[in-house]
Amino acid sequence: MHNHPQPASATGLPRRIRRLADLAYNVWWTWNPDAMRLFAKLDPQSWHRLNHNPAKFLRTIERKHLNAALTDIQYLESYDRVMAQFDAYLGDQRTWFAAEFPQLKDRVVAYLSMEFGLHESLPIYAGGLGVLSGDHSKEASDIGLPFVGVGFIYQQGYFRQHITEDGWQEAYWENIDVADLPVKPVATPDGDELLVSVELPGRVVNIRIWEMGVGRVPLFLMDTNVESNSPADRDLTARLYSSDLDVRITQEIVLGIGGVRALRAMNINPKVWHMNEGHSAFIILERIAELVKAGRSFDAAAADVRASTVFTTHTPVPAGNEAFPQWLMEKYFPQYWDRMGLDRDSFMALAKVDQQWGPSFSMPTLAIRFSERRNAVSELHGQVSRKMWQFLWPGVKEDEVPITSITNGIHTGSWLARRLRLLFDRSLGADWYEHLDDPETWDSLLSIPDEELWAVHRHLKRRLQIFMNDRARAQWATTRIHPVQIIASGALMDPNVLTIGFARRFATYKRAGLLFRDVDRLLRLVNRPNMPVQFVFAGKAHPADDPGKRVIQELYRVIKRAEFAGRLIFIEDYDQNIARHIVQGCDVWLNTPRRPHEASGTSGQKAALNGVLNCSILDGWWPEGFNGENGWAIGGEHDYDREDEQDAADSESLFGLLENEIVPLYYKVDEKDLPREWIRKMKESIATLAPAFSTRRMVKDYATQMYVPAMQETADDE
Ligand SMILES: *Cc1c(COP(=O)(O)O)cnc(C)c1O
Repeated sequence: MHNHPQPASATGLPRRIRRLADLAYNVWWTWNPDAMRLFAKLDPQSWHRLNHNPAKFLRTIERKHLNAALTDIQYLESYDRVMAQFDAYLGDQRTWFAAEFPQLKDRVVAYLSMEFGLHESLPIYAGGLGVLSGDHSKEASDIGLPFVGVGFIYQQGYFRQHITEDGWQEAYWENIDVADLPVKPVATPDGDELLVSVELPGRVVNIRIWEMGVGRVPLFLMDTNVESNSPADRDLTARLYSSDLDVRITQEIVLGIGGVRALRAMNINPKVWHMNEGHSAFIILERIAELVKAGRSFDAAAADVRASTVFTTHTPVPAGNEAFPQWLMEKYFPQYWDRMGLDRDSFMALAKVDQQWGPSFSMPTLAIRFSERRNAVSELHGQVSRKMWQFLWPGVKEDEVPITSITNGIHTGSWLARRLRLLFDRSLGADWYEHLDDPETWDSLLSIPDEELWAVHRHLKRRLQIFMNDRARAQWATTRIHPVQIIASGALMDPNVLTIGFARRFATYKRAGLLFRDVDRLLRLVNRPNMPVQFVFAGKAHPADDPGKRVIQELYRVIKRAEFAGRLIFIEDYDQNIARHIVQGCDVWLNTPRRPHEASGTSGQKAALNGVLNCSILDGWWPEGFNGENGWAIGGEHDYDREDEQDAADSESLFGLLENEIVPLYYKVDEKDLPREWIRKMKESIATLAPAFSTRRMVKDYATQMYVPAMQETADDE
C-alpha cells in the first residue's frame, strides 16, 4: 500500500550488510530478537549507551565494527537469515485478515492516538495508553489488518525523571533530534515536503508528516516544528501532556483536524476511524465539515461519520475526562459551526457538559455521540463506563447502555523474554507464534521440565540484577548522588531473594503506599530469617501531580532507611526498557489500584506471559484473568463507600497473602532446590493468561466486532 520509509542513503554501510538500514527504519526488529541482535552484536557497548536506537547507532558506528562483521561468517549467516525473514514477513499475503475477509483488504482503518509506545528509543509515549497503541499497531501488522496509525513526533517527548536525595521527583526534558529517529518526511509527488495546515486564532499553522514502518503498517507522525511557523508554534508539539489548556487544545486540533487533512493529502481514505481515547475526537468535526462542504446536510453527514467511527474509552473516573471550557472552544473554533451547517449553540450542544467552572465541551461526550461502536477496555470497566455515561441515554437501562468492552492485551513478541521464546519454540511447536491466541497452543507448556523453566527464570532474574547494577554504576560515575541512593537504586539486589515488582504511574489511586501503611510489618516481612523479600519500584508522577509526587517521596524516604538494608529498590525514569527488565525478572507482580479505578492495566499481562505471578486487586483485567491457581487476588470484589476503609482492608489482605502464602510457597523447595508448587503456578499463569490477554486476541476482537461491521456498513459510501 505504501513505500516503507527508507533511509535517504545507506552511506557508510558496507554493501554486504547495507540492508541493516532497512531494518533500522522499521520497528519490526523490536519484536524479533534475532534482528535486534544484528545491531547489538556489532558493538554492544554503544548499542546500550544509545538506548537501543538503531538509527543513531548506525549513523555513529565506527568503521572497525562494521569491518569486523564482514569477516564474521556467523554474523553474515544470521544477517542473511534475518533479512529473508523480514522480506517474507513484509511480503506475506496469507495473513489472518486476508484469509477471513479477503473482500475487505483495501478498506483502511485509521487509528488515532496521542501517544505510541513502540520502543524506548522512540520517546513519543508517556505510559499505558501509549504502550497499548504501540502494541495495537504491531499486532495490526502481524494479523495483516489494513491499518494506518496517526499520532505525533514530540521534539522532547514525555519528561525524564530524576529523584533527589530527599525523594522529590524532578522532571527534565531532552531534545530529540529527528535525524536519530527511524522516520522519513512524507513527500509530495514532486518530491517536496508534504505540509498540511490547521487554522488557529489569528494564524495558520503548518504540520509536517513523518512516516515510520511498523512491520507491514505505516504510522504517520505529525509535528509543527516547521520553518514557516512562528517560534512559539514550532514548539506546540514539543511535549506530551502539557497542563496548559491552550497547548492541549491546539495539540488535539492538530491530531484531529490535522490528522484528517494529513490522510487526505496522502490520498488515504479510511473506511473506519478509531479514536483511542477522546483526544482525537475533533476528527468528527472535520469529517462532518468535509461532508457538509460536499453538499450533505448536517444530519446526513453526522450519520455517515457515526457509522464509520469507533471509540475506545480508557477513563473510569468522571474527573479524568477531558472537557474544554466553551470560551476556549469559541476562541479556537470561531465560525467552525458554519462549516458544519450549525449555529453556535447547536455546535456547543454537540458535547456540552456542565463543569464547576461553567459550560464545557467534553471530548469523550463528542466521541461517544458520534461513534456507532464504543468500548471500554475490560469487562469491569465496561460496567463502570455504562454507569458513568448512562446520562447520555436518558431512559435506557444501565446495562443496556451501548458501550461494550474489549479487554486490553499485550503484543507477545514485544514483551516475551528471548530465552523464554527459545524455550517455547522448542516445546510449543515451531509455529506457536502463529496460533498464540488459541488456548490449546499452550497445553504442552505443562510438560516443560520444571528445571528448564526455572533455569530460564533464574537467568532473567540475574539479568535484572545486572541491569540495575549497571545503572547504579553509571549514576555513580556521572552524577554526584548520595551513596544511599546507589543502594536505593538496586546496587545490593540479590537474585536469590523473592523479588516483587511494582511499576506504574504514581497516581494516588494506584496506591503505591498500601504497603507502607504498616512500615514495621513491612520491615519484618523483608527481613524474615531465611525468607527475605525485596521490592522493586519504578514509575513517574505527572509533573503537575503533587500528590503523586508526595507518594514517591514517602516511598523513597522509607526505601532509604538503613533497616531495610537495600531490600527496597526504586529505579528512576521508568520506560519500556525498564518495564521489559522488571516484568521479565521479578517473581511476583504487585498491583494495588483502588477498585474500580484501573480501567485495565497491562503490565501484569506482560509479567504473566513471562511466568511472573500476579498478586493484584480484582480490578481492571484481573477479575477475568484470575482462576484461583494462576496468581493471587488481594481483597474481594466488594465496593466500598469509604476510601480509608477500603485501603485498610486491602492492606490487611495484602500482608496476609504475602506472609502466609506467597513467601512460604516461594521458599518451599524440594531436595533439588526447586520450588515445585511455585513453578506449577508459573506454568498455569503462562498457559491461561498468555493467549487471552494478547493483542492477538484483542485486535481480532476489534476487527470482528468493530472494524468489519463498520467497513461493511460504509461499503458503498465515500
Ligand atoms: C506496560 C507499561 C505501562 C502500563 O502499565 P499499567 O500500570 O499496567 O497500566 C506503563 N508504562 C510502561 C513503560 C509500560 O511498559
